[in-house]
Amino acid sequence: MPPSGSPEATNVSSGPTGKRLTVLSGPSGVGKSTVVAELRRSHPEVWLSVSVTTRTPRPGETHGVEYYFATGEEFDRLVAAGELLEWAEFAGNRYGTPRAPVERKLAEGVPTLLEIDLQGARQVRESMPEALLVFLAPPSWEELESRLRGRGTEPEDVIARRLAAGRVELAAEKEFDLSLVNTAVGDVCDRLVALLK
Ligand code: 5GP
Repeated sequence: MPPSGSPEATNVSSGPTGKRLTVLSGPSGVGKSTVVAELRRSHPEVWLSVSVTTRTPRPGETHGVEYYFATGEEFDRLVAAGELLEWAEFAGNRYGTPRAPVERKLAEGVPTLLEIDLQGARQVRESMPEALLVFLAPPSWEELESRLRGRGTEPEDVIARRLAAGRVELAAEKEFDLSLVNTAVGDVCDRLVALLK
């Protein structure tokens, strides 16, 4: 380990083995969580950060697996204590990445992936310029809209907010280091794993 205070010790975006943080972002409904679920199943060697959110769990979601579900007050405390690497408000709820586990995994040289929204990706770009930012793009806008509606888990007003956010997120594709079009989940996973290793 480098002595604390050296540039290496403070560079949390890549550990001593040269692993850098990879961020997967893209519009809501594009299939990020499906990609992440498939990665979890097929590539357990990749470490996926578990975010904190103030959103209520969807059916089938488990505290500590997809998210840590928190109250607004708990979230406020994490922000005030500087315990989040980044955080953002998205469609009426807050989401953030716990800082300590990410720093630990990078230091251990474990391939590390964050699945976060555009605002979060921009914060990571600022604080960790070496991070690799990957944009997951839908095959088309129509496809994105039908995936969001087809999920059937959100009321119309929530879908409308997510579609509005999606338009903004699609326009930001060029800020990313590379784009993967989500045509087949297995292909996206393979390409991501190749980037992570
Ligand atoms: P969902 O409610 O559909 O699970 O997630 C909504 C959005 O929040 C998605 O775009 C997802 O990528 C994003 N998100 C999930 N976790 C985080 C996080 O820790 N930070 C940020 N900035 N966005 C997140």
